[in-house]
Parts: sequence; C-alpha cells; structure tokens
Amino acid sequence: MAEETIFSKIIRREIPADILYQDDLVTAFRDISPQAPTHVLIIPNHLIPTVNDVKASDEKALGRLFTVAAKLAEEAGIAEDGYRLIMNCNKHGGQEVYHIHMHLVGGQPLGPMLS
Ligand code: IMP
Repeated sequence: MAEETIFSKIIRREIPADILYQDDLVTAFRDISPQAPTHVLIIPNHLIPTVNDVKASDEKALGRLFTVAAKLAEEAGIAEDGYRLIMNCNKHGGQEVYHIHMHLVGGQPLGPMLS
C-alpha cells in the first residue's frame, strides 16, 4: 500500500491550496513554488505514486489530466502562445512528491527542454 502524500490532504481540502479545478477524477491547484507565471499541478484524485505504477484502470483519470490542462491553459490565456506539460518520475526525473502530477507551466518562453 503506497503512502499518502501532502497532495491527498489537498484533494480532501484538509490543508490550504489554491484549487483551480476539481471533479470526481482529478484536482488542479497552483504550485506553491511557481517556476513561471502559470504553474499548476494537475493530479489524479487516487494515489498513483509514480508513472511506473500506472495501470490500465488509471487511463480515464490520466486522460482527464490532459483535458483539464487544456481548459486551464485556455483560462490562463496561455494556450495560443504555448506551454509545457511535465511529469517527473523517480530520482533521476526529479520527482519530489510521490503522487503523480502533471505540471502545467507557461506564461513566458521556457527555454530548452532539459534545462
Ligand atoms: P516534482 O518535483 O515533480 O515532484 O514536483 C513537486 C511539486 O510540488 C513542486 O513543484 C513543489 O513546488 C510542489 N509542491 C510541494 N508541496 C506543495 C503544496 O503543498 N502545495 C502546492 N504545491 C506543492
């Protein structure tokens, strides 16, 4: 059984977060340490620790991450200029919170992908 992270408390609204969107499958909230003018995390409501743990039964929730990312990008006014969606996996990927999350980052030119 995977251990819950702080993101489960955000989903349950037990700790404060700037939640922009929530439905039965996913939650989106502003990153506490934004790396660009728009920096939102979009996460499945159920705990999947890393991309390595993804199962076929997760596909509906993970597909929703993309539709919500597109909606939030449009609402933030960054859709046309563009943005980046990032998912980090494990140590070499720079993952810090072990509840998978899609970073939606934009609002400025972002530079080379691996910087
Ligand atoms: P990772 O490196 O891909 O795991 O990204 C974790 C992200 O979660 C980082 O960008 C953190 O700034 C962000 N983060 C950590 N704790 C919180 C929180 O309590 N609220 C919002 N964002 C958080």
